[in-house]
Amino acid sequence: MSNNNTKNEIIVDELPKCDFCSNKAGYDMKLIGGGYWAYVCEDHKKLGIKLGVGYGQKLVLNKGDE
Ligand SMILES: [Zn+2]
Repeated sequence: MSNNNTKNEIIVDELPKCDFCSNKAGYDMKLIGGGYWAYVCEDHKKLGIKLGVGYGQKLVLNKGDE
């Protein structure tokens, strides 16, 4: 179920911690108002502007060798 026109994903070996809580982050996003970037979890995704080029990217765990 994907209707994205572009890939806004970053492949990572390990998911970083959310910058606002102790959850694992799922996104690297530009924050509303701040203009700076942070790792955010599903709960704190709302602090980001949006997903998209220049705004936010989904972190995808590297599954390793297929
Ligand atoms: Zn969080």
